Amino acid sequence: MRDHRTSSSRDPSQQGVRRVSVLLPLPLDAPYDYRLPDGMAAVPGSYVRVPLGNRVVTGIVWGDGSGDSTIAEKRLKAVAELLPNPAMAEELRRLVDWVAAYTLAPLGAVLRMAMGPEDAFAPEGLRHGYLPADAIDPTIALTPTRRRVIAALDPERAMSAADLAAAAGCGVGVVRAMAAGGLLREVALSVRPQRPQPDPTRPFPNLSPDQERAASAISAAIEARQFAPFLLDGVTGSGKTEVYFHAIATALRQGKQVLVLLPEIALGAQWHDRFARQFGCRAAAWHSGIRPSERRVLWRDVAEGRAQVVVGARSALFLPFRDLGLIVVDEEHDSSFKQEDGVIYHARDMAVVRASLNDAPIILASATPSLESLANVERGRYRHLVLADRHGGALLPTVTLIDMRLDKPARGRFLAPKLVAAIDETLAAGEQVMLFLNRRGYAPLTLCRTCGYRLQCPHCTAWLVEHRLQGRLICHHCGYQQQPPEHCPSCDDTRSFAACGPGVERLAEEVAERFPKARTAIMASDTLDGPAAITDLIRAVGAHEVDLLIGTQMMAKGHHFPMLTLVGVVDADLGLNGGDLRAAERTFQMLHQVSGRAGRAQRPGIVMVQTFDPEHPVMAALAANDRDRLLAIESAGRRERHLPPFGRLAAVILSSEDPDQNEAAASALARAAPHLRGVDILGPAPAPLAILRGRHRSRFLVKTERQVNIQAVVSQWLDAVRIGNAVRIQVDIDPYSFL
Ligand code: ADP
Ligand code: ZN
Repeated sequence: MRDHRTSSSRDPSQQGVRRVSVLLPLPLDAPYDYRLPDGMAAVPGSYVRVPLGNRVVTGIVWGDGSGDSTIAEKRLKAVAELLPNPAMAEELRRLVDWVAAYTLAPLGAVLRMAMGPEDAFAPEGLRHGYLPADAIDPTIALTPTRRRVIAALDPERAMSAADLAAAAGCGVGVVRAMAAGGLLREVALSVRPQRPQPDPTRPFPNLSPDQERAASAISAAIEARQFAPFLLDGVTGSGKTEVYFHAIATALRQGKQVLVLLPEIALGAQWHDRFARQFGCRAAAWHSGIRPSERRVLWRDVAEGRAQVVVGARSALFLPFRDLGLIVVDEEHDSSFKQEDGVIYHARDMAVVRASLNDAPIILASATPSLESLANVERGRYRHLVLADRHGGALLPTVTLIDMRLDKPARGRFLAPKLVAAIDETLAAGEQVMLFLNRRGYAPLTLCRTCGYRLQCPHCTAWLVEHRLQGRLICHHCGYQQQPPEHCPSCDDTRSFAACGPGVERLAEEVAERFPKARTAIMASDTLDGPAAITDLIRAVGAHEVDLLIGTQMMAKGHHFPMLTLVGVVDADLGLNGGDLRAAERTFQMLHQVSGRAGRAQRPGIVMVQTFDPEHPVMAALAANDRDRLLAIESAGRRERHLPPFGRLAAVILSSEDPDQNEAAASALARAAPHLRGVDILGPAPAPLAILRGRHRSRFLVKTERQVNIQAVVSQWLDAVRIGNAVRIQVDIDPYSFL
């Protein structure tokens, strides 16, 4: 019997029964076997509908059925339907395999990121759109949901049921029922509009010799259709974007598609404008904010090769390109490329994998490259393309450190006298100022002056941050909110609360008092309502409708304001505390990026950095504009301690609502920890965020030498221990967060 089963799956032609393995977008480690009905022409990569329990689920044919499956042929369920979607390409399936093997995430969870919208290839023609009804019977009482649907309608443009439902926060059934009841006007949606095509033949500015060298090296690789990773390394304003635009044009002339990954895609307005100026139309944008119907159309256009240049955040990495010829990762050092929940992966690193699977070059661009990428240059894996100078000889800003121990702000104030004087001068000269403080809200800590009690999140080991503009206290880890209490929960005193430390709102208060005539704006993710508001503010600053901009790191990226000549960094030391391996590297990257905002046009810029530790290598490197010295110090330190990129790290995080179960699981894992050469397992230790969203957390850190297969170490270790369902285990390979 057993022999018979094995041979039948190996040799389908003889038995007339074909087994296929189908991977489902669920947290499963492996595909399941199904029987392919006669005449169904599914191939690896085909989208199929298969029964699972009492549901039918869409999955992907991953390969032939596994020969050693324990399910007898007769009991094997049949594939229910073959969908019209083009098969998922081999390269994309290998990427899914690769990401799952690397991150130790369940294979099906990775597949979910690559599957796309369920109905991307649903037959068109059947689709309807909705417009406001010509007249609605005024005697009909509308539910709040239905009123929201009506409010969400666009009188100019019919919206699909899915878009309307998403905009109104209801199900599509509500929309359909309203249409049937005459509350909406149903029209056939027009055929997909033509997507405008970027024009690669438009003239470019002449390149400088450095730029020319870089552009032609990349173009040669594009034309050779070979995997080739490049680190494009040049100060802000040196023309990195100009160089990779050339590369994009080369790829387009070869008929290839291009993927550009940008951090914080919502901030890409200036990037899009610039792309449109060069290529005559905008690039297609893929991010979490796009409407379901646009998402579906774009997915399909990418698969069919109609979308030629796609710009996206992390998730664009898994789009089904038909013929990908170039990947660009801009600001490659940016830690927002690391996805921290669900499948924990680094989009930059996986982009390199995708480029290699697609035989395509990849450009990693940055003014402050990561040590990881520089180490890859040193190992001869990446080619280093350096743009040494700012384009047109624009000067780099002068960086001055303000020693806060000597130049003290007044009590309860946060701006040092030197910085105040510089702001005065800049405003008097009719120029713009940017103040950088990487902390949202009014104050990071509220305490009771009478008893010292600190207002804390009930679900996390974290203080509540006061957001005075919203009148709320908010936990920045779980989003918990409450109104500021009247009485101290501990000593019951009233009006005894004091705000400690500054956030951007408090800084704005100080600025309003000191510079009452300056037109001031705050730029932080919670003070702006969505991408449109961000774009508006950036345009307003560019048009000099704002004199003084206060912001968090969201303001640090890529914006170009010609009249901005002074940047003040309010608390430069903020990122240096805590157990983050990359604290120094990241603080430097961020402050360097912020500094780059000053004086990009004909005006030289000034940067003033407030610090309590001016001798710190990060501050010294900023002041001396000596990035390489800091990198040398950092790499020497990491090399010595076998830390990335000279060793490997993985975090294993246990969490449970029940502290005892969590502790028991941690002890069980600790007992099973392997003793291997070149492997250190540290922990368990309570995580710095010991409680998060009501879950108790403890952490292990696995540290190995570079040649060790850390995935194998971790998975063998975890497989050896049985952990109950009450405890969740997360594995984070190459952790960036140590909380
Ligand atoms: P980066 O991406 O390194 O910050 P950009 O590509 O944005 O640099 O270049 C900075 C500015 O200089 C931009 O306004 C860009 O258009 C301009 N620029 C760069 N290179 C050239 C060039 N070769 N000719 C004309 N303008 C250039
Ligand atoms: Zn919380």
